[in-house]
Amino acid sequence: AADRVRTFDPRGSVFAEFTALANAHSAVNLGQGFPNLPLPGFLTEAAEKAVGAGTMMQQYARSQGHMRLVQALAKYYEPRIGISICPTTEIITTVGASEAISSMMQALINPGEEVIMMEPFFDIYPATIRLAGGVPKYVALRPSTTDSTTPGAGHTAADWKLDFEELESQITSKTRMLIVNTPHNPIGKIFNREELERLADIAKRHDLLVLSDEVYEAIGYNDAPEPMQSIAALPGMKERTITVGSAGKTFSVTGWKIGWAIAPAHIIHSILMVHQFMPFTVVTPLQEAVATSFEHVMSEEGSRYFGELCDTMAGKRDRLLEILRGVGMTAYSPHGSYFILADVRSLAGRVPAEADPLGDPYAFCHWMTREIGVTAIPTGNFYSPEHRHLAQGFIRFCFCKTDDMIEQAGERLQRLV
Ligand code: PMP
Ligand code: GLN
Repeated sequence: AADRVRTFDPRGSVFAEFTALANAHSAVNLGQGFPNLPLPGFLTEAAEKAVGAGTMMQQYARSQGHMRLVQALAKYYEPRIGISICPTTEIITTVGASEAISSMMQALINPGEEVIMMEPFFDIYPATIRLAGGVPKYVALRPSTTDSTTPGAGHTAADWKLDFEELESQITSKTRMLIVNTPHNPIGKIFNREELERLADIAKRHDLLVLSDEVYEAIGYNDAPEPMQSIAALPGMKERTITVGSAGKTFSVTGWKIGWAIAPAHIIHSILMVHQFMPFTVVTPLQEAVATSFEHVMSEEGSRYFGELCDTMAGKRDRLLEILRGVGMTAYSPHGSYFILADVRSLAGRVPAEADPLGDPYAFCHWMTREIGVTAIPTGNFYSPEHRHLAQGFIRFCFCKTDDMIEQAGERLQRLV
C-alpha cells in the first residue's frame, strides 16, 4: 500500500468494527448510526418510481448534481441560510456527506495547511485532511458539569462548551479552515447563536473557510435552548462557508449515500474539479427520489413529516436516557441528532477489571458487547492521540432504533446494576 494508507489503523473504521462485533455476538447494536425504523411511503414510492422510470433516468446524472435535486435543495436551504442560492453554481451533490467532505479537502487544502476541528469529532475529518496533505489541529469541547461521575438527570449536550481563546490560540498563518458540526456527533450539541457568532467572528478575523457539517439538521428536539441554526446565515459568512448535508440522515436512508455541499460558486467549482475525477457523478434515480422527497416535505401535505419524526425520536431518546441513567451512567441528553454520549466512570468497581470504565472506553465497549449483549461506540477514535485521555469513560449510544430494540437493550443493561 502507499505510505498514506499505512498511517491508518488497519482495523478500519470503529463503526464497521463494532457493527461486525455486534453481529458476531448477537448484541443489540446501538453503535453505528443508522435507523432501522419503517420508512414513510413517500420515500420508498419515490425510489421505486425513479428506478421504474425511462432509460434516461438510469443514465449518468449531471456531474454537479441532478437538476431536480439541486433545485429542491436550493429551495429547502434558502430559508435556513437566508440568502438566495443558485442551484446550478452554488450546490454540488456527492456520494454522501462523506464524499463532500473528502472532495472539499482535496479541492481546498494545500499540503501543510491546517484545519481546526473540535473534539470529539466525526472520524472522517482528520483522515480526509491528511489524505490531502493537510494538518489537523484540535480543540476539545469539555463538559462544564463539575461532578460528571454522579449519575442523575439534568446533564445535557449544552453542558459541553468550547474555550474560544484556546481555539484561537491554535490558529497560525497556515490555518485555512475551521470545522463546525451542528447538531454535533457524538454529543448531540446544537451550537447556539452566540457560539456561532463567536466562531464566525474568529473565521472572519483570520480569513478562514468554514465547513459546517449539518447532516443532522432535521433532527432537533423541542427542549433545545435554541433551534439549529446555520453559520452560513450570519453576516459575512455565506461567502466563506461550505454547508454539508446528507439524505442518509435527513430522510433516514443511510444506504442511499446521497449528500451535498452548498457554497459560493468558485468553491463549488473547485470541489467539482475533484468530484469529476472521483465518482464523476452520483446515482441518478436516487437523486431523483431525494428530490421528490424534499418536494414532498416542502408541500402542504408533507409539512408535518419532520415534526413527527422528531417527536418519535424524542420519545426514544427519553426512554434510552432513563435506561442509561437507571443503570448508573451519566448520560447527556442530546438537543439534536440521534446519539447519546454517556459517561460510564461511575460503574467502576461494578464491572470486571478487563472492562475498566475509568480507562480507554474501547475495552469497556468490547466487553459490553460480548458479556452484556449491547453495543455502543467507544469515543477514543473521536480524539487526537494527544487528547485521547479525554475519551476515558465516554461511550456513544444510538437510539434511532425500534422500541423493541431499545427495550431489549434496557433489559440486558440491567445486568450492570
Ligand atoms: N458527518 C457526520 C457528523 C456524520 O455523522 C456522518 C455519518 N453519517 C457523515 C458526515 C457522513 O454522512 P454520509 O453517510 O452521508 O456520508
Ligand atoms: N455517521 C455514522 C455514525 O456516526 C456512521 C458512520 C460510518 O459508519 N462511517 O455512527
